Amino acid sequence: MKKLFEIKNLNMHYPLLDGVMGNIKGYVYALNDVSIDIYENEILALVGESGSGKSTLGNSILKLLNPTSGEVLFDGKNILQKTKKELKSFRKQSQLIFQNPYMSLNPRMKIYHLLKEPFVIHGIKDKDEINLRIKNILEITGLSEDVLDRYPHEFSGGQRQRIAIARAIILNPSFIVADEPVSALDVSIQAQIVNLLIDLKKHLNLTMLFISHDLSVVKYISDRIAVMYLGEIVEIASKEEFFSNHKHPYSEALLSAVPVISEDKKNKKILLSGDIPSPQNPPKGCKFHTRCPYAFKKCKCEKPSLKEISPSHNVRCFLFES
Ligand code: ADP
Ligand code: MG
Repeated sequence: MKKLFEIKNLNMHYPLLDGVMGNIKGYVYALNDVSIDIYENEILALVGESGSGKSTLGNSILKLLNPTSGEVLFDGKNILQKTKKELKSFRKQSQLIFQNPYMSLNPRMKIYHLLKEPFVIHGIKDKDEINLRIKNILEITGLSEDVLDRYPHEFSGGQRQRIAIARAIILNPSFIVADEPVSALDVSIQAQIVNLLIDLKKHLNLTMLFISHDLSVVKYISDRIAVMYLGEIVEIASKEEFFSNHKHPYSEALLSAVPVISEDKKNKKILLSGDIPSPQNPPKGCKFHTRCPYAFKKCKCEKPSLKEISPSHNVRCFLFES
């Protein structure tokens, strides 16, 4: 399998500024040494509680943020070192879909203009070609042509997300970050949008980083799963391996919280107590030790590394280090 992205030792430490003097008074350690590959034509799910760094990772690999250090190789080239001009083709090939399509769709623009805008930005002027592409994308995303003359507020949440997806894929990108794309939608609508994303992946050869905190959606859509906790990847496995043989206590806790999925599992259930610790002052040793029912002495002072325990299954936990 070809790697589309190779993310190496990525760190994002947001500086916290003192209000009066503007001095740096600390950092939010949002990403810590994150290394992960994304393979061509896969849907890689990124899961974890709110505040674990998922959006920061998604935005960093699109270079919508400037990470503190590390490398993001896209097609073998480090996009973090590219200039604005050099990034232009990357911008065309990679797109972001948000949780709230209201944020990505200018409320004052009719849908026709919203769909035309990406062409304008990238200097494509041929009107016939643009109109043909718009017609085609409406068909692909299950929208009718009469949406074109209307404004975003005239649509339901599900339809609006369809429009946002149409806009994101209209220039034929190869990669999409979908950041909680169905979390704001009614459950009945979620399945339609998830199915649309699966269809698009198949038919347009898309690669996708699918960010979600909902494991039932992840089970349906993804090929592989990466679990994040306090800015670190703690487990990566194929979907089948993850749901049948997950190892990390944090993964176990996330799965315990989803009744339907954990029903047939023999494993003990762990309930997560307390909130996720502050990423400004993360625990020493294993970051999960403060909430882990299996923590022992070593976990409090030493940091486990992400180890391969079977082919393509990596876990960051001393319980699984031989
Ligand atoms: P998730 O998407 O998993 O909920 P985020 O990536 O949004 O997590 O955030 C990770 C951590 O970084 C959180 O503690 C969040 O408050 C913090 N954070 C996000 N953006 C900023 C910012 N611009 N400045 C400072 N801290 C931030
Ligand atoms: Mg987020």
